[in-house]
Amino acid sequence: MAALGDPLDFIIGKKAADLLDDTFGIRTVDDLLRHYPRKYSRGSTVLGEDDEPPEEGEHITFVDTISQADLRRMNRTPHREYLVVTLGDRRPKVTATFFNPKYLKRTLVKGTKVMLSGEVGYFRGTMQLTHPGFLILDSPTGKAGGGTKSLMKIAESAQGDGEFDLSVFERDFFPIYPASSKLQSWDIYACVRQVLAVLDPVPDPLPESIRREMDLVSEDEALRAVHLAENQAPRERALERLRFDEAVGLQWALAQRRFGELSEAGPAAPRRDDGLRSALLLRLPFELTGGQNEVLDVISGELAQTRPMNRMLQGEVGSGKTVVALLAMLQMIDAGYQCAMLAPTEVLAEQHARSIRDVLGPLAMAGQLGGDEDATGVALLTGSMSAAAKRDAREQISSGTAGIVIGTHALLQDVVEFDRLGMVVVDEQHRFGVEQRDQLRSKAPDGVTPHLLVMTATPIPRTVALTVYGDLETSTLRELPRGRQPIATNVIFARQKPSWLDRAWQRVVEEVAAGRQAYVVAPRIEDDDKMAKPVAGSGRTATAVVDLYAKLSKGPLAGVRVGLMHGRLTPEEKDAVMGGFRAGEIDVLVCTTVIEVGVDVPNATVMVVIDADWFGISQLHQLRGRIGRGSHPSLCLLVTDLSEASKAGGRLRAVASTLDGFELADLDLEERREGDVLGRRQSGRASGLRLLSLIDHRPLIETAREFCDEMYPRDPDNRGMALLAAPFSGTDRIEYMDKS
Ligand code: ADP
Ligand code: MG
Repeated sequence: MAALGDPLDFIIGKKAADLLDDTFGIRTVDDLLRHYPRKYSRGSTVLGEDDEPPEEGEHITFVDTISQADLRRMNRTPHREYLVVTLGDRRPKVTATFFNPKYLKRTLVKGTKVMLSGEVGYFRGTMQLTHPGFLILDSPTGKAGGGTKSLMKIAESAQGDGEFDLSVFERDFFPIYPASSKLQSWDIYACVRQVLAVLDPVPDPLPESIRREMDLVSEDEALRAVHLAENQAPRERALERLRFDEAVGLQWALAQRRFGELSEAGPAAPRRDDGLRSALLLRLPFELTGGQNEVLDVISGELAQTRPMNRMLQGEVGSGKTVVALLAMLQMIDAGYQCAMLAPTEVLAEQHARSIRDVLGPLAMAGQLGGDEDATGVALLTGSMSAAAKRDAREQISSGTAGIVIGTHALLQDVVEFDRLGMVVVDEQHRFGVEQRDQLRSKAPDGVTPHLLVMTATPIPRTVALTVYGDLETSTLRELPRGRQPIATNVIFARQKPSWLDRAWQRVVEEVAAGRQAYVVAPRIEDDDKMAKPVAGSGRTATAVVDLYAKLSKGPLAGVRVGLMHGRLTPEEKDAVMGGFRAGEIDVLVCTTVIEVGVDVPNATVMVVIDADWFGISQLHQLRGRIGRGSHPSLCLLVTDLSEASKAGGRLRAVASTLDGFELADLDLEERREGDVLGRRQSGRASGLRLLSLIDHRPLIETAREFCDEMYPRDPDNRGMALLAAPFSGTDRIEYMDKS
């Protein structure tokens, strides 16, 4: 009679259907049945005298007779009445309160038998339900019937003769749905029951083989049991099945993206041994590490194919990703293509351009005196360049003289045209969405999909790599190039041990005296910015970098050359400060997280992070990567006003205890839980995941990945799988890294 794809209004009426749509965006039978209960309440039938009393906030249902009904008036607004009824002679006492009880005061009288259902609160040892759902079962006034509409509907629906069938309430558990004030849990339960009563058997979207292998119940059984099951075991089985559906649906959607580009023409660039790539390998002042060689081999192989590469390269700051990317780009240039490298900030784009030109030397000096005869050009394009400089860069890009094009968002603009774009490198992936990298990829000649290499220095937990970034294959550089010095990290609890902070500044001065440099990082720029607001309830505000700069340069760091860097400086000011720091004319850089990404000053050996508790675990780890880049041992000091015993204190100690970014990434993930990780769709509805957790269900996610990888090439148009994937296709890119 009804199928999953049917609209709801024919089954539950237009009014209820509109309300579901307005409140939750629920339109079809499928939408409604996948609005899973968020928990299950105990019914009164199982709450015996000896049972543990329910906890505050627990949802519970009672059937009993009203032993007392008191009409009271509000103290401050005596014209407002409220009704307090007492149920039976239970211990602890159970009461229910109804405000503005116009007719209720005449129906909920002493001796009335009622069912009450709502959330439990406690006040002076009395269990209280406030405005619970209710149903009048028997009344001394002779007027039975009446009550909360959806409860009446549930009770009536079994019989249809106007009589109440209480057996529907004789259950151990009731589902409790995500609800709103206009659409309460009981209303949703009533709709779900109506729909399930007329639902045809649901065809199973999963192939029989995997169902058997995973020992899963059928889709039909699962969709019914998740709402109606009387006890725990069948409910768990239902959830298990529906959770697997989600894992598979997500992986299928990602497989569609990964394999979907198979047929498109990638710019095949087989490796040559007489080109720029080989020339650079000869020029490099160091040997590639084993890890770099391995990753480069994989990438080289993929660049040679007509299938576009979709690969993410992760590795700690300083693990040598950029060199690998550069060698890959040269392989493309050797085959006659151009490469674009997208950086998240101007500082970083400029730094890349500078260091890539340095490394390439004569190989990047096409048409210049002293340039190699096969040389290519490196062009830089950022928003703050002069109009003339931009025009010049665009001309090099469109004519093809620039083999390597480095830039910020400015590269995405329509006016930027490439001659023969064959590869896109995105540095620090998390600042860019899928749309942006696709926008850049679309600048390739018609019919060509450029290879894509995404680099990130933030280690990504395995489950996140398989889901949020599941449309990319992953490579990881785990070892740092030889010669790197370890970074020691200490937490300074400045409130508890103020002398340690004094010692920290002394230490900075000592390092400067020894010829080294330092960073001092604070969470925000000045008093009027957003982060100036205290954390809820704590009354604390974060240190502003402008104040800190003033204080330090007059106080503890008076004897050294201190520079100030933050996002509100003009590009010229930023350039001057960064240039001065790089050149060693500034000893200590007091800054915000503008220095977070990719800045490379090997002589910097100390970092002091003020109010470190304001930063996320991954962010601190990434900040710390600014030091330890040269041949001197380095020290990172995390300063906080919070106590050693606080949660934040523990978090900071965790950062101090390890340099393993993957370990910290897992911690970070656990701390944020995935609600944050996966973000929300613009509509405000949660991203397609409801039951699947990136933290708790890693094996399930891996199984689903393997299953889809195996099945997709065999049966890409499978209808059932397309259905499961639908909630995940075309979702907005889930932001992961940009949060802290
Ligand atoms: P990432 O991009 O991962 O942060 P880079 O590629 O910028 O790392 O490398 C950081 C520094 O290490 C650079 O100065 C680079 O020249 C140097 N480097 C890279 N690979 C090696 C290597 N195999 N041996 C020694 N130094 C290396
Ligand atoms: Mg880098």
